[in-house]
Amino acid sequence: MDIVLFGPPGAGKGTQAAAVCAAANVPHVATGDIFRKNLKEGTALGQLARGYMDRGELVPDQLVCDLVADRLSQADALGGALLDGFPRTVVQAELLERWLTAHGRRIDVVLNLVVPDEVLVRRLSGRRTCRACGASYHVDHNPPRTAGVCDACGAAEVVQRDDDREETVLARLQTYHRETAAVLPWLRARVAVTDVDGTLPIGVVQDLVHSALG
Ligand code: AMP
Repeated sequence: MDIVLFGPPGAGKGTQAAAVCAAANVPHVATGDIFRKNLKEGTALGQLARGYMDRGELVPDQLVCDLVADRLSQADALGGALLDGFPRTVVQAELLERWLTAHGRRIDVVLNLVVPDEVLVRRLSGRRTCRACGASYHVDHNPPRTAGVCDACGAAEVVQRDDDREETVLARLQTYHRETAAVLPWLRARVAVTDVDGTLPIGVVQDLVHSALG
């Protein structure tokens, strides 16, 4: 089953992803995570993506699509995947559809997390992320038990993502409205999209997402 987890930055896609992957038995393919891993490892891809990420802009479509096609071809993703943070433009959506069709697959489910901008700004500016495993925290609502230390993996690497600083957050939201929001009507015209109120408590969102998977 190929699932698209859609929504603006800060909507809770990363937080919901693990449960969705477990329920559907598919791997988590998060383009942002792939870029951050490459950045951390100092690869050429990471160097290339850095400027775009720092400015809150999108990495060029072809680069992202090649990366995703490559990832979806790996053994663990042959039965489907959870796409998180992709597609982010209509061009990416079209290339994804073309690739899936060519491989006898399709977008089976779209989950759209809906959260208003003012909530997103508060969430993203207070978000802290584990650099080792990607777990998400929030300084006010969900801090790690020990400051700076990840509850999930124990690494002392819970920090603010560079692109979660306030000035970049605003740029990312602008990018979302300018380039990514248009993907939603494109998806709705092709697949049944389940809208989920992402402002509800994490557990409630998880239940709603779970029931959408059928
Ligand atoms: P995320 O973790 O999904 O918020 O992604 C962090 C950053 O990685 C984004 O602000 C973009 O610069 C880049 N990125 C992630 N996914 C994509 C994508 N599908 N298309 C273009 N750029 C992306």
